[in-house]
Amino acid sequence: MKKKIDTKLIEESIRNILIALGDDPKREGLIETPKRVAKMYEEVFEGMNYTNEEIAKMFGKTFKVDTDEIVIEKNIPTFSYCEHHLALMYNMHVSIAYKPKGKVIGLSKIVRIVDMVSKRLQLQEKLTKDVAEVLALACETDSVAVLISGEHSCMTTRGIKRYGEKTITTFYTGEFKENKDLRNEFLHIVRTED
Ligand SMILES: [Zn+2]
Repeated sequence: MKKKIDTKLIEESIRNILIALGDDPKREGLIETPKRVAKMYEEVFEGMNYTNEEIAKMFGKTFKVDTDEIVIEKNIPTFSYCEHHLALMYNMHVSIAYKPKGKVIGLSKIVRIVDMVSKRLQLQEKLTKDVAEVLALACETDSVAVLISGEHSCMTTRGIKRYGEKTITTFYTGEFKENKDLRNEFLHIVRTED
Protein backbone atom coordinates (compact mmCIF):
# COMPACT_ATOMS: atom_id res chain seq x y z
CA MET A 1 0.00 0.00 0.00
CA LYS A 2 1.42 3.32 -1.08
CA LYS A 3 1.77 5.93 1.63
CA LYS A 4 1.56 9.47 0.40
CA ILE A 5 4.11 12.16 1.13
CA ASP A 6 2.22 15.24 2.39
CA THR A 7 3.56 17.91 0.03
CA LYS A 8 1.21 20.61 1.37
CA LEU A 9 2.60 20.13 4.88
CA ILE A 10 6.18 20.22 3.55
CA GLU A 11 5.42 23.51 1.75
CA GLU A 12 4.01 25.03 4.93
CA SER A 13 6.98 23.81 6.97
CA ILE A 14 9.57 25.17 4.52
CA ARG A 15 7.78 28.52 4.55
CA ASN A 16 8.11 28.51 8.35
CA ILE A 17 11.82 27.66 8.16
CA LEU A 18 12.34 30.63 5.82
CA ILE A 19 10.57 32.87 8.36
CA ALA A 20 12.61 31.35 11.22
CA LEU A 21 15.78 32.17 9.27
CA GLY A 22 14.67 35.82 9.26
CA ASP A 23 13.98 35.88 5.53
CA ASP A 24 10.85 36.91 3.71
CA PRO A 25 9.08 34.00 1.99
CA LYS A 26 7.17 36.54 -0.11
CA ARG A 27 10.26 38.03 -1.76
CA GLU A 28 10.72 37.18 -5.42
CA GLY A 29 13.52 34.62 -5.11
CA LEU A 30 11.70 32.65 -2.41
CA ILE A 31 8.07 32.83 -3.48
CA GLU A 32 8.12 29.44 -5.24
CA THR A 33 10.72 27.85 -2.93
CA PRO A 34 8.35 25.97 -0.58
CA LYS A 35 6.58 24.42 -3.58
CA ARG A 36 9.90 23.53 -5.26
CA VAL A 37 11.31 21.94 -2.09
CA ALA A 38 8.10 19.92 -1.58
CA LYS A 39 8.30 18.65 -5.15
CA MET A 40 11.98 17.80 -4.72
CA TYR A 41 11.32 15.96 -1.44
CA GLU A 42 8.54 13.98 -3.07
CA GLU A 43 11.10 12.77 -5.62
CA VAL A 44 14.21 12.28 -3.46
CA PHE A 45 12.25 10.55 -0.67
CA GLU A 46 10.10 8.39 -2.94
CA GLY A 47 11.46 5.23 -1.31
CA MET A 48 9.76 6.22 1.97
CA ASN A 49 6.43 5.31 0.35
CA TYR A 50 7.41 1.65 0.20
CA THR A 51 8.55 -1.16 2.49
CA ASN A 52 11.55 -3.34 1.62
CA GLU A 53 9.14 -6.13 0.65
CA GLU A 54 7.27 -3.82 -1.73
CA ILE A 55 10.50 -2.67 -3.40
CA ALA A 56 11.64 -6.29 -3.78
CA LYS A 57 8.34 -7.12 -5.45
CA MET A 58 8.50 -4.04 -7.68
CA PHE A 59 11.91 -4.93 -9.18
CA GLY A 60 12.06 -8.64 -8.45
CA LYS A 61 11.48 -10.18 -11.87
CA THR A 62 13.76 -13.23 -11.89
CA PHE A 63 15.22 -15.54 -14.53
CA LYS A 64 16.06 -19.20 -13.99
CA VAL A 65 19.75 -20.16 -14.07
CA ASP A 66 21.61 -23.40 -13.36
CA THR A 67 24.73 -21.85 -11.87
CA ASP A 68 25.47 -20.67 -8.35
CA GLU A 69 28.45 -18.49 -9.35
CA ILE A 70 28.33 -15.15 -7.59
CA VAL A 71 26.97 -12.11 -9.40
CA ILE A 72 28.71 -8.80 -8.68
CA GLU A 73 27.63 -5.31 -9.64
CA LYS A 74 30.03 -2.63 -8.50
CA ASN A 75 30.20 1.13 -8.08
CA ILE A 76 26.53 1.91 -8.62
CA PRO A 77 26.36 5.68 -8.00
CA THR A 78 23.67 7.00 -5.67
CA PHE A 79 22.88 9.61 -3.03
CA SER A 80 20.74 9.75 0.08
CA TYR A 81 19.87 12.00 3.03
CA CYS A 82 21.17 11.59 6.58
CA GLU A 83 18.42 11.31 9.16
CA HIS A 84 20.42 13.18 11.81
CA HIS A 85 20.80 16.45 9.86
CA LEU A 86 18.58 16.05 6.76
CA ALA A 87 21.93 16.52 5.01
CA LEU A 88 22.91 15.11 1.64
CA MET A 89 25.03 11.97 1.55
CA TYR A 90 26.75 12.18 -1.83
CA ASN A 91 29.52 10.68 -3.93
CA MET A 92 28.10 7.35 -2.85
CA HIS A 93 28.95 4.11 -4.56
CA VAL A 94 27.20 0.84 -3.89
CA SER A 95 28.73 -2.54 -4.72
CA ILE A 96 26.71 -5.68 -4.33
CA ALA A 97 27.13 -9.41 -4.75
CA TYR A 98 24.81 -12.34 -4.35
CA LYS A 99 24.98 -16.07 -4.76
CA PRO A 100 22.03 -17.25 -6.90
CA LYS A 101 19.87 -20.10 -5.71
CA GLY A 102 18.52 -21.03 -9.15
CA LYS A 103 17.39 -17.50 -9.98
CA VAL A 104 18.94 -14.18 -10.99
CA ILE A 105 17.42 -10.74 -11.46
CA GLY A 106 18.11 -8.31 -14.31
CA LEU A 107 21.17 -6.11 -13.76
CA SER A 108 19.16 -2.95 -14.34
CA LYS A 109 16.81 -4.07 -11.56
CA ILE A 110 19.73 -4.09 -9.11
CA VAL A 111 20.39 -0.45 -9.99
CA ARG A 112 16.69 0.36 -9.55
CA ILE A 113 16.65 -1.31 -6.14
CA VAL A 114 19.68 0.71 -5.01
CA ASP A 115 18.06 3.87 -6.36
CA MET A 116 14.73 3.35 -4.60
CA VAL A 117 16.19 2.24 -1.25
CA SER A 118 18.50 5.29 -1.33
CA LYS A 119 15.52 7.64 -1.56
CA ARG A 120 14.89 7.59 2.16
CA LEU A 121 15.88 9.51 5.25
CA GLN A 122 18.41 7.18 6.87
CA LEU A 123 21.95 6.42 7.98
CA GLN A 124 24.43 4.82 5.60
CA GLU A 125 24.47 1.74 7.84
CA LYS A 126 20.70 1.34 7.40
CA LEU A 127 20.92 1.87 3.63
CA THR A 128 23.57 -0.88 3.44
CA LYS A 129 21.43 -3.33 5.41
CA ASP A 130 18.23 -2.48 3.52
CA VAL A 131 19.84 -2.90 0.08
CA ALA A 132 21.03 -6.34 1.25
CA GLU A 133 17.57 -7.23 2.53
CA VAL A 134 15.73 -6.14 -0.64
CA LEU A 135 18.27 -7.92 -2.83
CA ALA A 136 17.94 -11.13 -0.81
CA LEU A 137 14.14 -10.95 -1.09
CA ALA A 138 14.20 -10.15 -4.82
CA CYS A 139 16.72 -12.87 -5.74
CA GLU A 140 15.34 -15.36 -3.24
CA THR A 141 18.80 -16.07 -1.86
CA ASP A 142 20.22 -15.82 1.64
CA SER A 143 23.78 -14.96 0.56
CA VAL A 144 24.26 -11.28 -0.15
CA ALA A 145 27.13 -8.78 0.23
CA VAL A 146 26.85 -5.00 0.12
CA LEU A 147 29.60 -2.39 0.40
CA ILE A 148 28.88 1.33 0.30
CA SER A 149 31.28 4.26 0.34
CA GLY A 150 30.01 7.80 0.63
CA GLU A 151 30.60 11.34 1.78
CA HIS A 152 28.21 13.07 4.17
CA SER A 153 27.67 16.80 3.84
CA CYS A 154 26.96 16.99 7.59
CA MET A 155 30.62 15.90 8.03
CA THR A 156 32.25 17.73 5.12
CA THR A 157 30.53 21.14 5.16
CA ARG A 158 29.86 21.76 8.85
CA GLY A 159 31.08 20.71 12.29
CA ILE A 160 34.50 19.13 11.92
CA LYS A 161 34.62 19.81 8.14
CA ARG A 162 36.40 16.70 7.04
CA TYR A 163 36.53 17.40 3.30
CA GLY A 164 36.74 14.26 1.24
CA GLU A 165 36.39 11.91 4.19
CA LYS A 166 34.68 8.71 3.13
CA THR A 167 32.46 6.48 5.19
CA ILE A 168 32.57 2.79 4.29
CA THR A 169 29.87 0.39 5.44
CA THR A 170 29.40 -3.31 4.72
CA PHE A 171 26.73 -5.90 5.29
CA TYR A 172 27.04 -9.64 4.70
CA THR A 173 24.55 -12.45 4.99
CA GLY A 174 24.64 -16.23 4.50
CA GLU A 175 27.77 -17.56 2.82
CA PHE A 176 29.35 -14.12 2.58
CA LYS A 177 29.16 -13.93 6.36
CA GLU A 178 30.37 -17.48 6.98
CA ASN A 179 32.93 -17.94 4.22
CA LYS A 180 35.91 -15.59 4.54
CA ASP A 181 37.30 -16.57 1.12
CA LEU A 182 34.05 -15.68 -0.65
CA ARG A 183 33.92 -12.36 1.20
CA ASN A 184 37.53 -11.62 0.29
CA GLU A 185 36.86 -12.48 -3.35
CA PHE A 186 34.04 -9.92 -3.33
CA LEU A 187 36.20 -7.27 -1.65
CA HIS A 188 39.08 -7.95 -4.04
CA ILE A 189 36.90 -7.52 -7.13
CA VAL A 190 35.19 -4.43 -5.73
CA ARG A 191 38.49 -2.74 -4.83
CA THR A 192 40.34 -3.58 -8.05
CA GLU A 193 40.21 -0.97 -10.80
CA ASP A 194 38.51 -2.37 -13.90
ZN1 LIG B 1 24.31 13.72 9.54
